[in-house]
Amino acid sequence: MPAETRLFRCRSDNYGVLLHDPESGATAAIDAPEVAPIEAALNATGWKLTDILVTHHHADHTDGISALKEKYKCRVVAPAAEASKIPAVDETVREGAKVKVGTLSANVIETPGHTLGHIAYWFHADKLAFVGDTLFSIGCGRVIEGTPQQMWQSLVKLRDLPNDTDVYCGHEYTASNSKFARTVEPNNKALAAREAEANQELAAGRPTIPVTIGEEKLANPFLRADLPEVAAGIGMAGKPAAEVFAEIRARKNKF
Ligand SMILES: [Zn+2]
Repeated sequence: MPAETRLFRCRSDNYGVLLHDPESGATAAIDAPEVAPIEAALNATGWKLTDILVTHHHADHTDGISALKEKYKCRVVAPAAEASKIPAVDETVREGAKVKVGTLSANVIETPGHTLGHIAYWFHADKLAFVGDTLFSIGCGRVIEGTPQQMWQSLVKLRDLPNDTDVYCGHEYTASNSKFARTVEPNNKALAAREAEANQELAAGRPTIPVTIGEEKLANPFLRADLPEVAAGIGMAGKPAAEVFAEIRARKNKF
């Protein structure tokens, strides 16, 4: 049976998401930004929390873990490289590990850059990827602990997932991301269309995610740093993709 998801807002601009396996009844929270909205989502669905899958150690992704674990006795899965910074971890995982949520199965993809141990969970059979703060809709996370080179390689790994993969990210940043993306690729028609669509969703009070990898490849400048026209557009024709990426990221930091 196909996986079910429930997406909801947490804190100021975080997303929480529940992943449910109808066959076994297992339910995972991807990260635990805030207890109350997660419990509200559990109550609304009638799902019982069995697992928390952590993408990285930042407080706005881990603050709810201890209280949820105490109450629901759920299993906490976290990146091995950051386990010491994350509370109540039961199981640590690295690149290539398989993580089960009931009968659902994810591959762990290491995506260092935003933090050094950041991971994504790819449920390939269900065409779902939970990418934390590595890839955002029309944007990407700040490179806080790693290097731009690492972040670029991490984004390329996510870009290589099948086009019809639904991407769930950690924050609602699409409006500001698309405004910035236009400064990099003012003539990108796919970007303009995505921006219009996202603004409509936001005006209606709806989330702009999930997005597909295929859509992101067309509109997200951070996934397009190896295209000659993108490099040329910011005056870096012929430069290596990681350098072009670093320049786009630096411009976004000042935007
Ligand atoms: Zn973060």
